[in-house]
Amino acid sequence: MWFKKSSEQTSPKAFRRQITEHVQEKLWLKILVALFLGAVFGYILSPDVAIMKNASAAQLSAWIAFPGYLFLRVLQMVVIPLVMASLILGIAGGDSASLVKKLSWRVIVYFMFTTTVAVSIGLLFGHMFEPGQMMNVEQASGMMQGYTPPPVNEALTDSSNIPKRIVGLIPKNPFASIASGDMLSIVIFAIFVGFALTAMSTLRSKPVLDLAHSVQDLCMVLVSWMIRLAPYAVFGLIVDAMVKLGVSSIVAMGLYVVTVLTGLLVMLIFYALIVTVLGMNPVQYFKNIREAQLIAFSTSSSAATMPVTMRVADEKLKVNPAVSGFTVPLGTTINMDGTALYQTIATIFLAQVFQIDLSAWDMMMVLTLAIAASVGTPGTPGVGIIVLATILISVGIPPEGIALILGVDRILDMCRTTINVTGDLTATIVMDRLLGKESLKHEE
Ligand code: ASP
Repeated sequence: MWFKKSSEQTSPKAFRRQITEHVQEKLWLKILVALFLGAVFGYILSPDVAIMKNASAAQLSAWIAFPGYLFLRVLQMVVIPLVMASLILGIAGGDSASLVKKLSWRVIVYFMFTTTVAVSIGLLFGHMFEPGQMMNVEQASGMMQGYTPPPVNEALTDSSNIPKRIVGLIPKNPFASIASGDMLSIVIFAIFVGFALTAMSTLRSKPVLDLAHSVQDLCMVLVSWMIRLAPYAVFGLIVDAMVKLGVSSIVAMGLYVVTVLTGLLVMLIFYALIVTVLGMNPVQYFKNIREAQLIAFSTSSSAATMPVTMRVADEKLKVNPAVSGFTVPLGTTINMDGTALYQTIATIFLAQVFQIDLSAWDMMMVLTLAIAASVGTPGTPGVGIIVLATILISVGIPPEGIALILGVDRILDMCRTTINVTGDLTATIVMDRLLGKESLKHEE
């Protein structure tokens, strides 16, 4: 059996190492090959080539995507217990309490800083490339016919009674939050539990911490099983995405797609600069995190990727587990740089199509809402575009315009999710370094 049963004697660290050994054999290369083959095969099945009827291609691709759906589902299944266990251990495990106290405000300020950089890059590139100038309102109205935009998210735009709304973030019933999968409430609950445990006697807190340890290890075992499936999963998911995507739609929206991708690339360079400032080799850094990036790209979900992100932080970046246990779940929930950048460019693109001048105040509005959306939106596929409707309405752009960019959303979602996950990992390494951990061994 590829996975040995953990014995009583195995320490949690050795146990985790054991899991990793099994997944380290050039997994990233297998995923990359699967991605390439999936793209080629998916293209052959797609409406652009049309070797078979669309309905048959869709049915076939659904079966090919089966391991992918399975993979995604199991990762999603472990996310909530893993977020809770990791946050609790990150805050109260071992001697990490004072560490996290130091970390908490810094990481939130850091997240706000990087999201502001992302939005600024979006504003700059949106104005530099002017992607919307290529399309006129008549063309646009044809594409928008019959499209119903997503509803406005009142929680983002309503500025009345902010104190009450802040308090509203604390879950009244944590079990209801867990049942409904409300990640932000779950994270807040786990943070409360973690800090409360640090105030208790060891005798009383130990059972909960032991349970959290077991839950965390249990989740990682499930992840290690699933990760063996990753190349097949990625192949299937990419075939499925390609069949639904259609390459012709990407070409038609060329300049818009290029603008978003260039913006995301610049954000990646920004992360490379950050790690360089920390004294690391950025190439080595990206090599270390590529597994998480590839899974994020293939699943379009930073929440589903979170267990892998966590594993990469601990095993490849070798950060202090107390730091990753805090920053990864938190970042997955409240930090989405790629999404914020994308929403900004999409807003500018549609403003240009509809010939609406965005004032400095509107830009500020986009910045604020993109940051707020980053906190409030779950890391699941396609949510970025749903929240976009709210941003558009608040700066006077018809949300029906979303119909224009919907066709290329999947591919952009894959790319922005990769940036979201890279942002969380970069935050983790920054916090680890800020806390002066000397034992970082990122050279393998
Ligand atoms: N799919 C993205 C994520 O999971 C969110 C988005 O739609 O932008 O991070």
